[in-house]
Amino acid sequence: MYRPFSFRQTQMTHSSVTLLGTKGGPAIRPGTPMPTSSLLRLGGKTIVIDAGLGVTRGICDAGVPLTGIDAIFITHLHSDHYLELGPLIHTAWTAGLKTPIPIYGPEGLGAYWRGFLASMEADIALRIADEGRPDLGSLVELQKLEAEAFTLFDIKVSAIRNQHPPLADSFALRFDHQGKSVTFSGDTAPIEEMVDFAAGSDLLIHEAMLTEGIAALCARVGNGDDRLRIHLERSHSSAQEVARIAARAKVPALALHHLIPSDDPAFTQEHWIEEIRPFFDGMLHLGRDGMIIEF
Ligand SMILES: [Zn+2]
Ligand SMILES: [Zn+2]
Repeated sequence: MYRPFSFRQTQMTHSSVTLLGTKGGPAIRPGTPMPTSSLLRLGGKTIVIDAGLGVTRGICDAGVPLTGIDAIFITHLHSDHYLELGPLIHTAWTAGLKTPIPIYGPEGLGAYWRGFLASMEADIALRIADEGRPDLGSLVELQKLEAEAFTLFDIKVSAIRNQHPPLADSFALRFDHQGKSVTFSGDTAPIEEMVDFAAGSDLLIHEAMLTEGIAALCARVGNGDDRLRIHLERSHSSAQEVARIAARAKVPALALHHLIPSDDPAFTQEHWIEEIRPFFDGMLHLGRDGMIIEF
């Protein structure tokens, strides 16, 4: 007995996640979804999780002004999760951002940010002198993300290292505020720790891969050897494994994003449902760009 997908597009409320970009991996082609980014609304705050290509347009399309971002988290340093971080901050700056944004990310994010500032040095200096804007470099408060729990605003933020080789610094994130809770898996192979980490959350947003779609994907975009397939299989989670984790964590709702494959017409909703439903019977959201999930 299959339950229908939820494709609700409703007014954004206090506790929601908008999936801005839902494809796994950095490449886009005509008609594909965009790489990974999500917008969390919780406790009156607006938090961006990952900043893949398209994040800036996605935030605006979600009806959120770029000057209304309270914090940004980058789960790991794969380009499909932070390629547009610099352009996002720069564009928020030209849209009137005046107060610093805390940005949490792995070791190495500082080098990216400094490199971005250097690449745009002439433009930034020009706009400071010519338009009277504040120094862009001062509008970012970089914080190193560790496996830890801390309070941001009045939201409890928890991070654990997930399993995403060859990267060591790759994180799952959980946000809790006054009984509302959401967990993001980040990019990861299935890990036992995710069950306890997500337990008690209202919503688990997990990356997912359709195993039978991998061979076709590698034939289409791989480099001719089996390195891409090996990376996918050891660093990502099959939809079946995700369903088992969600069921064991007893989360009432599961959203799949970072979908691999995301643009192969041979694989449809039904393929994902077939993988998930034998193991998980809660609310299922098959991610697509712009989907709003309330919790
Ligand atoms: Zn990724
Ligand atoms: Zn990754």
